[in-house]
Amino acid sequence: MRLVLLGPPGAGKGTQAKELAQQWQIVHISTGDLFRYHLAHDTPLGQSAKEYMQSGRLVPDNITEAMLKDRIERPDVLESYGFVLDGFPRTVPQGRALKALLEERQERLDRVILIQVPTEVLLERLVGRRTCSLCRANYHVRYHPPKVEGICDRCGGALLQREDDQLDTVNVRLKVYHQETEPLVAFYEEAGILARVDGNQEPAVVTEATIRAAEGGPHD
Ligand code: AMP
Repeated sequence: MRLVLLGPPGAGKGTQAKELAQQWQIVHISTGDLFRYHLAHDTPLGQSAKEYMQSGRLVPDNITEAMLKDRIERPDVLESYGFVLDGFPRTVPQGRALKALLEERQERLDRVILIQVPTEVLLERLVGRRTCSLCRANYHVRYHPPKVEGICDRCGGALLQREDDQLDTVNVRLKVYHQETEPLVAFYEEAGILARVDGNQEPAVVTEATIRAAEGGPHD
């Protein structure tokens, strides 16, 4: 299964991608997580992505596409039953680059799932999100608080607000989504592989809907 999860920041792509990857034994690839890894380790790639990420803008296509190509050509991906992409593509040129990359190995995407959530819900989710600085588990100050404030239930790490989850940056990220990422909806609709899922429900309900949409096949 080769899937893309599309949707605005805060739609739950990461949560759903983790769940699908586990259920189907496929590889979860998050370009946001890859960039955060490079940022945390201060690699040259992290240094080139830093300013874009901190201000909520997209890292340029050439940098992002090269990072994705490197990841998708690793043995764990090539040897698995597929992958679920979370946060890539985010522009139409990235969508074309992905298509070309897959065509080179006689592959194609099975499904692109658009997770839809109203803007006011996205804002509340993102601004209230806290992330464990050690294991990256996500919490929410209101909807999923930890047992002890500021401490991760799983590993005891400190819970922090992602710099790009602060209100000003969230607004930039949502604007960038509308301008740069939303055109991919038409791109994949034309390709006949787009399915829509209501993301404003309990995570387990969204997972079921996502699985149904993914298993619907390319021309459902
Ligand atoms: P995310 O965790 O998916 O919200 O990504 C965090 C940040 O990483 C984004 O706001 C961008 O700055 C950068 N990023 C992640 N994926 C991409 C992408 N496909 N294209 C450009 N920038 C990206």
